[in-house]
Amino acid sequence: MMVKKTGFVVGCLLAFLIFPFFVSARDEILADTLKRTTAMKFRVVLDPGHGGRDSATRAGAISEKHLVLSIAKAVKTRLEQEGFDVVMTRERDEFVSLSQRALVKGDVFISLHANTVADTVGEGIRSMIKGIEIYTTNHMERSEEYSGKSKRLALAFQQQLSELRGINLRGIKEKSLAVLNQNQSPAILIELGFISNKEDLAFLINHLNYPNIAAAFVKAIKIYRSNLSR
Ligand SMILES: [Zn+2]
Repeated sequence: MMVKKTGFVVGCLLAFLIFPFFVSARDEILADTLKRTTAMKFRVVLDPGHGGRDSATRAGAISEKHLVLSIAKAVKTRLEQEGFDVVMTRERDEFVSLSQRALVKGDVFISLHANTVADTVGEGIRSMIKGIEIYTTNHMERSEEYSGKSKRLALAFQQQLSELRGINLRGIKEKSLAVLNQNQSPAILIELGFISNKEDLAFLINHLNYPNIAAAFVKAIKIYRSNLSR
């Protein structure tokens, strides 16, 4: 009986001495987790263009609004797997105005579209006009700083998207676009290819290409994010 009681007292004493170490170790783990979570809270806004009554461009049964939403969802999944906080301006086939879209804030804002040439253009020309275009604007109304950052974001995307197999990159262009002009974040618009071109269309409707597109987005955003701290 006496042995048991002594054992109990020793046990309590040890627990009393060791407990603070457990507490401090637990606090360190919590602080570390919080630090990593905060560091990863880099918010990416994905803006699948058009939607609802606004179908935008079409190629037969394929409409731009469905195409860009499918690609945006694939990119979102991959970015979330990498720890990014992702917000989409629309998750379904619905109309969202350009000014409503531009109000959604993030560390970066990426608008996704697909390009086309006029119906009157013949097949000979259609077969030649193809590839991805990245747009920035020189008319950002909110901040000069966003304008500079948007260009750096475009450069990071240019580097990564040029390495995609199966589709060309036409380059970075400047255009006054409402969704970029009114934006409240560093913002670019990507025309993912010409659906009026057979090769681009085949690439864009093939879901097997989506992991590669998503991987290029992840790399570009990581490069942009790491360059921010320099
Ligand atoms: Zn569009």
